[in-house]
Parts: sequence; structure tokens; C-alpha cells
Amino acid sequence: MQQHYDVIVVGAGPAGTAAAYDLARGGSRVALVEKQTLPRHKTCGGGMPMLVGDILGFNELKDISSEAFVEADTTFMRHTYNFEEPVLSPMNGPQDSDRPLSLWMVQRSIFDYELAKRAASAGAELLDGLTVKSIEVEKKGPIRVVAERAGHAWTATCDTVIGADGANGVVARNAGLRKQRALAIAIEVEAPHRWGDGHPDLRPDVCHLEYGAVPQGYAWVFPKGDHLNVGAGVFRPRSNGGAEGSIKQELRGAILQYLKVLGVPRDETELKFMAHPLPIWNGLDRIQTKDDRILLAGDSAGLINPFFGDGIMHALKSGKIAAKCILENRSHQYTREIATEFKGNMDAALKLARVFYRWPHICYRYGVTRPGATRTATRLLCGDAVFQDISRKAIRRLRSGMRAEGIATDPIEITKNEEA
Ligand SMILES: Cc1cc2nc3c(=O)[nH]c(=O)nc-3n(C[C@H](O)[C@H](O)[C@H](O)COP(=O)(O)OP(=O)(O)OC[C@H]3O[C@@H](n4cnc5c(N)ncnc54)[C@H](O)[C@@H]3O)c2cc1C
Repeated sequence: MQQHYDVIVVGAGPAGTAAAYDLARGGSRVALVEKQTLPRHKTCGGGMPMLVGDILGFNELKDISSEAFVEADTTFMRHTYNFEEPVLSPMNGPQDSDRPLSLWMVQRSIFDYELAKRAASAGAELLDGLTVKSIEVEKKGPIRVVAERAGHAWTATCDTVIGADGANGVVARNAGLRKQRALAIAIEVEAPHRWGDGHPDLRPDVCHLEYGAVPQGYAWVFPKGDHLNVGAGVFRPRSNGGAEGSIKQELRGAILQYLKVLGVPRDETELKFMAHPLPIWNGLDRIQTKDDRILLAGDSAGLINPFFGDGIMHALKSGKIAAKCILENRSHQYTREIATEFKGNMDAALKLARVFYRWPHICYRYGVTRPGATRTATRLLCGDAVFQDISRKAIRRLRSGMRAEGIATDPIEITKNEEA
């Protein structure tokens, strides 16, 4: 007989594992279906606000410890422009002594697997190595999920599907959702590293950000236990387009240059470059079907912040919101809840991103390097501040910077007019 679940969650990344855990704890019969065999590599920088621990209830529920996956806890950012004009700044000011913030650095293979095991311990049925091929919806009757493992078909029925299957997800495609996608691209490598080698600012408590080397994007170096995660991404569309192949080549070049400048050069052939699309926020598209039986979460819903390019925290939050709506029998309110949580902040981030990535050097000089800017960035990343709070002031500052540099364009017009 065919298995029936209350909910089938497709994808065991942060969105899917968070949703499956909450659903199982709430008493739902839930399957968490993942196409790869766990633990699996996920192309990602693996940087996230430590407040993720609060979101997932680690301290309260005590069923998981951050020590299982946090490899470095960073409290400084080192910024450069074209690998010059370095600024090393703390993430916290004296006013934050009660509640200092930090950015956790994890390996996604470990982090995601811990969350998947946690969901399974709470009662979710974890089915890895199983690829969902299609979702069949009939007007009356349950949803049929058709999947495949090593050439063998698997089908099951359910009342609701959560599409947490990432940037290229089959669920959104099958359900005709998220048609207006804006895909950015990022590449990362893991470079083995011994602490003490290379530049003195290569430390386990420092994350590095470089703004000039990648037009319309940035590059990063994130510390991990025994390696550096070095990556680069393009977060805004290029006015002249740009073939994907040449953008990837450019990103590889920036990564190699970063390693060289930090005194830990690598040959291109020593590194495994991994590329993946980033579905950046471009306004709230349709993320649930009309009958409210299919909901999208995380990257599948396009919840990557267009300014920073981060998506882990939003994936976790959206997975939890989806679970809550289902458990409380109000799936019809899902999109509205997602809008309440993300829309204002993401829209304001998008406006600022249009300006920042157009004039990165001026933004660097008059914004990033200012005292307090790193603290603000940290608070924005952690969700302790929102882009609406800072964008007007930031654009005013940029305006005066542009005047000082003799540039006549008004950045406010750019925030209004440029296409997402
Ligand atoms: C190079 C790079 C660096 C990044 N760095 C950061 C960072 O430092 N910090 C940050 O916050 N964000 C970062 N991001 C973004 C972050 O990786 C994503 O936002 C996050 O992974 C989204 O989580 P998710 O659960 O929605 O999807 P994913 O983590 O993509 O998980 C989706 C899962 O679904 C599975 N799946 C897909 N199709 C199927 C199918 N048909 N059947 C079953 N399973 C399926 C996949 O195998 C995958 O495990 C980065 C992204 C890239 C590309």
C-alpha cells in the first residue's frame, strides 16, 4: 500500500530540516526527502549569525549543541577594496557588552546533517538518496509525490508539500510557482590551511571581505577548522550581460588572487571550484499554490538577501513559518507571513544593493570603512537591525561622497529606476 504523510518536505537543507523538525515535534506525520546521500556537500560559504541558535531553540530544547558544527566564531571583519585600503573592525561596540554578536562558520555538510538527524529524532522519516521527480496534484484527493532511488520508483501521497529543494527546485517548477526568478552566481573553494601561515589577519575570529575584485559582487575568506572557505559571487545583473563561463572564470581569478594576497597562494589545479546559483530576492513572487497545498521555503522561495547574498537564516525561518502555518491549519496565510517577516527588509536591501554594487569604491570609502559600519553590518546580518532603518542614512552619506568625488548622478534615482 502507498504510504501517506501529512506533509512531504522536499530537500534537507536548512529550510527543509527546520520545517520537518517543527512538524514532527508538532505531531505531523512527515517525510523529509533528500536527493543526495547524507552527509552531502553544499556549495556555500557557511557563514551565519550565531542567533541561528536562538531561532532553532538550541538553548531551550538542548537536543543539539552548536559545538557539533561551529568551526569558528568570528567577531571581526577585515574589509579591502581591490585587496588594498584594509580595515579590520570588531563586530561589536562597547555598548554591546551584554549581548555581543558573532558570525558562526560551519561546514554545510556537517551543519545540515546535524539538523536532518535532529528532525529524524523528533519523528520525521528521513529518506535520503531519493530524488523527487514530480508532484501530481488532483483537485480532489491527496498529492502524489513521485521519486526515484537508484533507478527504483518511489511514490507516496500527502496532504501538503513543502518545496525546500533549493535554487533549481523541481517543486516550484512543477507547481508553476516563482516564475520571475533572479539568479545570481557564486563560487567557493576549500583551501586547506594551518593557522599561523600567511597574513597575520588570517585568524579564526576574522572573516575577510573584498569588494573591488568582482564587479557587481564581492569575494570572501571565511575561517573553518582546518581550511579557509574562499569564494566570490556576482549579486547584481551586469548591464552588458556577461556569459556565465566568463563570469565563472573571473570569480575563479578573484579567489586565486585573494589567496595570493593573503600569503597562502594556491595553484588553480589544487582547488576544487564549486559553483551554484543564488536565487536572490526580487520582490515577493507566488510561493504557494492557490489551493495552499504546496508551499515554497528558503532558496526555492527566492529568500536570498540581495545585498549580502546570505540565505541560511532566511531558509531556517521560512521553513519554521511553513511548519507553523501547516500545524495551525492556516496554510492560506503562509505568503502573508513570509511577507511580514522579510518583505520590508529585503526590498530595502535590494534598493541599497543597486547603489552599492554600482559604486562600490565610493560606498567602500564613505560607508564600509566608517567606524561602526562593521557593527551595523553584523546587526543587519543577525536580523537585529533592518535595512529600512539604515538605508536612508546610508544613501545620504553616499550622496555626499559622490558630490565630494565630483559624480553628478543621484543615487536615489538609481534606487527607484533600475530593474531588479
Ligand atoms: C557559493 C555560495 C556561498 C554561499 N554562502 C552563504 C553564506 O556564507 N551564508 C549564507 O547564509 N548563505 C550563503 N549562501 C546561500 C545558502 O547556501 C542558501 O541560501 C541556503 O543553502 C538555502 O537553504 P535551502 O534549505 O533553501 O536550500 P539548500 O541548502 O540548497 O537545500 C536544498 C536541498 O534540496 C535537495 N534537493 C534538490 N532537488 C531535490 C529533489 N528533486 N528531490 C529531493 N531533494 C532535492 C538538495 O540536494 C539540497 O540538499 C551561499 C550560496 C552559494 C552558492
